[in-house]
Amino acid sequence: MSRLVIKNGRVVDPASGLDAQRDVLIEDGLVAAVEPRLEVGDAEVLDAAGCVVAPGFLDIHVHLREPGIEHAETIETGARAAAAGGFTSICCMPNTIPVNDSPTVTNFIVERARRYAPVNVFPIGAITKDSAGEQLAEIGAMKAAGIVAISDDGQPVMNSQVMRRAMQYAASFGLTVIDHCEDLNLSRGGDINEGAKSVRLGLRGIPASSEDVMVARDIILADVTGARFHVAHISTRNSIAMVRHARRLGIAVTCEVTPHHFSLTDEDIRDYDSNYKMKPPLRGHLDAAAAIEGLVDGVIDAIATDHAPHTGNMKMQEFERCPFGITGLETAIGLALEKLVHPGRISLLRMVELFTTGPARVIGLDRGTLAPGKPGDVTVFSLDREWTFDVNQTESKSKNSPFDGHSFRGGPVATIVAGKTVWRAPVGVTA
Ligand SMILES: [Zn+2]
Repeated sequence: MSRLVIKNGRVVDPASGLDAQRDVLIEDGLVAAVEPRLEVGDAEVLDAAGCVVAPGFLDIHVHLREPGIEHAETIETGARAAAAGGFTSICCMPNTIPVNDSPTVTNFIVERARRYAPVNVFPIGAITKDSAGEQLAEIGAMKAAGIVAISDDGQPVMNSQVMRRAMQYAASFGLTVIDHCEDLNLSRGGDINEGAKSVRLGLRGIPASSEDVMVARDIILADVTGARFHVAHISTRNSIAMVRHARRLGIAVTCEVTPHHFSLTDEDIRDYDSNYKMKPPLRGHLDAAAAIEGLVDGVIDAIATDHAPHTGNMKMQEFERCPFGITGLETAIGLALEKLVHPGRISLLRMVELFTTGPARVIGLDRGTLAPGKPGDVTVFSLDREWTFDVNQTESKSKNSPFDGHSFRGGPVATIVAGKTVWRAPVGVTA
């Protein structure tokens, strides 16, 4: 029997409301006990004194680029970056080459992850074949192969009739429909948020309305179909207000926000630096404030990174030509602490919820707590460890982050998956 005891940590478990010093025993991959003091003879010991010990963090929005774009990321390197960021489980989006629209691709991802990924990888299947927005993908067969939700992230379903059918179908399988809400006709040709900054830089604008009209459409379709609908990377104040309103009406809608959307605004874009180019774009300060308000009052269910690796060659092109997206797995905890917990906007318990039970609920995954019998996945992080993010040290194959060189107070210290320590912070950091 394999045993690991994590001793002397501050255990924060939102599912039970626990926030107290406890020892955690993991036996044969499962949580066995959480007690004030555990003495176990033949167990491996991890001293987490001075650290937070939380249920394993789950990121439901990650791009792993395999199959097809392995020069930017593989299942193995993306999963290693996740472990280094404190995540024990990730969900990978289907926009690979080929698109994950069939059980063949789903099986490939599940098998590669089982062999090479240090963390749990849960694939998200496409809504439509090739994410082309026309015919539904093999949703039932993909569910049998292991998908946990469906999405055409990056190539949103423009045809409302197709989206309605997808929601009806997904509801019958109990799958959440995750939509990257963007009306491509409104956003076409845009580079950054439409506003004073886009005018000043002479870049083409992506209006907030391109997100808002699709959030409105999908809320209405979720209402008529009874489907569970999740807004990926919500970024505008109107969209957040609509989700808040829909939930009051009892519609099954949830949403996530990325660390960059609550940390930065379009005013932070350094001149033509493509590491600030992503979709949705960084918005105005009222939108970022609305995201923080949603994190505080509960309308936002999860923090998800939208980790989107691109190679240096791709990102080094001129701003208008380079692809959208930034990496995010390794800086998520640091940013959540810096922008949300340290300024006192949310409690530590709420932050942990946004990375555990919140995202687990979105996709109906039975994870995110340290209750006995649950998977022995644990995220150990520090509230005050001083460290600087250096993209040259990243576990990801790509280096496209606007947070290169950023100094953080607090961050991941150890990542444990099924009782096995899969990542430890560099030497000198305790726990
Ligand atoms: Zn997206």
